[in-house]
Amino acid sequence: MTASPRDILHSVFGYDTFRGQQEAIVTTVIDGGDALVLMPTGGGKSLCYQVPALAREGTAIVISPLIALMQDQVAALLQSGVRAAYLSSTLDWQQTQAIESQLLDGRLDLLYIAPERLVTQRMLDHLSRVHISLFAIDEAHCVSHWGHDFRSDYLGLSILQKQFPQVPRIALTATADPRTQADIIVRLGLEKARVFLSSFDRPNIFYRIAQKQKSLDQLEAFIRREHPGDAGIVYCLSRNKVDKTAEALCQRGFNALPYHAGLPGQVREKNQTRFLREEGLIMVATIAFGMGIDKPNVRFVAHLDLPKSMESYYQETGRAGRDGLAANAWMVYGIADVMKLKSMLDQSQADEEHRREEKRKVDAMLALCETVQCRRQLLLAHFGEDLPQPCGHCDNCIEPAPTWEATEPARLALSAVYRTGSRYGVEYLVDVLRGERSERITGNGHETLAVFGRGIDIPDKEWRSIFRQLLARGLLQPDPEGFGALHLDDSCRALLRGEATLMLRREQARTVTPRKTGGKPALDISSEDRVLWEALRSRRRQLALEQGVAPYVIFHDSTLMAILAARPRSLDEMGRLAGVGEKKLERYGEAFLDVVNEYA
Ligand code: ADP
Ligand code: ZN
Repeated sequence: MTASPRDILHSVFGYDTFRGQQEAIVTTVIDGGDALVLMPTGGGKSLCYQVPALAREGTAIVISPLIALMQDQVAALLQSGVRAAYLSSTLDWQQTQAIESQLLDGRLDLLYIAPERLVTQRMLDHLSRVHISLFAIDEAHCVSHWGHDFRSDYLGLSILQKQFPQVPRIALTATADPRTQADIIVRLGLEKARVFLSSFDRPNIFYRIAQKQKSLDQLEAFIRREHPGDAGIVYCLSRNKVDKTAEALCQRGFNALPYHAGLPGQVREKNQTRFLREEGLIMVATIAFGMGIDKPNVRFVAHLDLPKSMESYYQETGRAGRDGLAANAWMVYGIADVMKLKSMLDQSQADEEHRREEKRKVDAMLALCETVQCRRQLLLAHFGEDLPQPCGHCDNCIEPAPTWEATEPARLALSAVYRTGSRYGVEYLVDVLRGERSERITGNGHETLAVFGRGIDIPDKEWRSIFRQLLARGLLQPDPEGFGALHLDDSCRALLRGEATLMLRREQARTVTPRKTGGKPALDISSEDRVLWEALRSRRRQLALEQGVAPYVIFHDSTLMAILAARPRSLDEMGRLAGVGEKKLERYGEAFLDVVNEYA
């Protein structure tokens, strides 16, 4: 009697086939089994519980940590004709009552709810009186201290297994770390769950990391060339830098907003909503901005500072291109970033072991920055995945970084550190090597050192690159006091003794924009198509505005692209496009056909 998963996928969501492991997951849950789903952002986790929710009798309860996320998902489901609602602290008493009675009358297919509300006695009583089709625990890594978003409320969810042992549970996360996975299983009592682990590759993201020069100019050039009018996120380390960068971008004619924990709650919320609802906004943010941003058409994520770990880098860049269309992960970093991060760790209050662990994370991140190999291979290897071939879709693959035999200069650099007593920073050391007779140098008598002036043939910039790479490889260590001084690491002995050689990457030749892909906007829309594209977007914007929802709730960019490519002539043709389910066809088919007819 009930529809098959494929029928639901097609008629409700407008898609023809399941992706990756979706079908196996959906079948497991429909058959009453538990599942733990580890899938990257944009992999299509939502359908894994939404389809079973529609296939099984009763109401699905979805636990989600963020209000914005719930609102968005519910808005999108309502558009597709699914009976969905959410309960959150933003609703008043009457609204809450109305939804509770929908629940009790069995008039809901899905109910989204925050964890702290779910575990209240009142809610648990309600739930014991209704037929529940499944529990979906979204962002399940929040239950783990190892994850970056630990929420104590999630610990209470262990009650679900005890109180509703017969209801299937599906936990979902985009966090790949094995420790977190193990934690999720224990804390949520998912020992019997089938585990579905997908590849964490994000093939549509182009990874690029370059040297920081004038970072704002670099950022501006990147956005102008490749992302005019696109939505993006720019991450900075400090609140102060967020404010300054947002302001500077606005002055340069971009539509940019700041977001960090130092802003009043209202401002933060307003900026976040604008980012979700409006098109083409740039959010400049600290890491406080992120979880639950499931805006599908973030076209780029830019880093102006080095993230603290590969995990953070992967998570933050992962917010680009959830819709599967082309997106960019772009970063500039410099030696000062490395020094800053490392000395921040040295000064932290954490215990020795913890600090060592954190340093290891920074080193892994640095290795990604400094590698001359495929970035994706290194990134995936970090998460235990083996990509047999270079990806062909990162800066190093497109434009291989030249390397050079740098053993001798590296030795000179190390001995400059040693001979000056391990008390100076990069600028000073470079001056010594280049034979600058500054007052400071002669004051210290360092012009008499054997290394003085020995590096005159190598330009300043190259020297800085050498020092940075020595730091990245751990051959040099920054001063724990944080004053920028460097000292030798034990690991540099082999090199000093002439028992090891060193190849370094040559920096000068590299451009921030790889030549072969440079200059192309991420969504490749030909100039003939531009007019229709803009017309489709503007119709979508208008429809979204009328209903107070985000544009992508009406149709995703990928669906607009499909309309652009197919130029449908009838409702029938329109209904065959990906992302056009029955309800949306009924609602918006005519409106978009009109646009096509008018412009095509
Ligand atoms: P996640 O929650 O894993 O980040 P989403 O559930 O938001 O991912 O899905 C990401 C995008 O992929 C959405 O635009 C969604 O509509 C699309 N999508 C998911 N499954 C399919 C499918 N089987 N066919 C086509 N598009 C899909
Ligand atoms: Zn690559």
